[in-house]
Amino acid sequence: MVDTSLISTERIQVLPQTDDQAGIIRWNPQKSLFYCAMAVMGVSALPFADIKDWTVFSLLTGVTILAGHSVGMHRLLIHRSFSASKWLEYTLVYLGVLVGMAGPIGMIRLHDARDWHQRQIQCPAFPSHTAGFWQDAWWQLHCTFYLDNPPDFVLEKSIAESKFYQWLERTWMLQQIPLAIVLFYIGGWTLVGIGVGLRVFISLTGHWIVGHFAHKRGQQRWVIKKLPVQGYNLPYISWLAFGENWHGNHHAFPESALLGIEDHQSDPGFLFILTLKKLGLAWDVKLPQHTKRREGLTLLT
Ligand SMILES: [Zn+2]
Ligand SMILES: [Zn+2]
Repeated sequence: MVDTSLISTERIQVLPQTDDQAGIIRWNPQKSLFYCAMAVMGVSALPFADIKDWTVFSLLTGVTILAGHSVGMHRLLIHRSFSASKWLEYTLVYLGVLVGMAGPIGMIRLHDARDWHQRQIQCPAFPSHTAGFWQDAWWQLHCTFYLDNPPDFVLEKSIAESKFYQWLERTWMLQQIPLAIVLFYIGGWTLVGIGVGLRVFISLTGHWIVGHFAHKRGQQRWVIKKLPVQGYNLPYISWLAFGENWHGNHHAFPESALLGIEDHQSDPGFLFILTLKKLGLAWDVKLPQHTKRREGLTLLT
């Protein structure tokens, strides 16, 4: 256990017996049933939804994915690409938990294990998204890849010993309930179906679709030499993915808070971080030039 904050590559520690290939993909009942339950809840509310329900849906989806998932979970908690006070970090991560993907510790583990796998000379089909569209959908949304001999996962003390993160990790699925109660009082069962069920279903599906295509094709400015898995930029969807669509840039500069690194690449998540910085709520915001250059990183001409 260490004291300081870690970045994604430091938490996965290879053991003598670690094997990055041998493993099994198994149906994960908890993940699969949660996803299906959200889909059923959301779809069954569709015929009754009105403009008020769609407004709440858009606002909640935007806030939880932008401030919660992209900025709180991904750029702050996982990559430490900027600094913020604890209360702000906890607020943003809480919003990220409402996306319905995992708890804070589960998210770090999922992200870092995938990141580690994608840095290997050979990467199995599950973490590389090599499978076809429907097969990958089944795997990523309903299954888990279990390595026979996984590496160690070491979490920094500030996260591992945080009572708040431990509590969120135990209760992340239940965190939809307080939100559902508020939505019920505002707009009844329809708003619960749209604001919780449909929102979580769309968020999880959208996250998988971006991950799937961002490792298959798209715009590519940078490559990491010798690696079979590369990231690609997916232009035109910046305001749907809040900047996470610049995944080729993220592979090139994982610790940068800015994902849309070129002038024409809009990055709503980074605009949010800049706003926090102007308000004095964020500091030490890292740009590509402040990060350690990845081995093999090459600009395509
Ligand atoms: Zn990737
Ligand atoms: Zn990342």
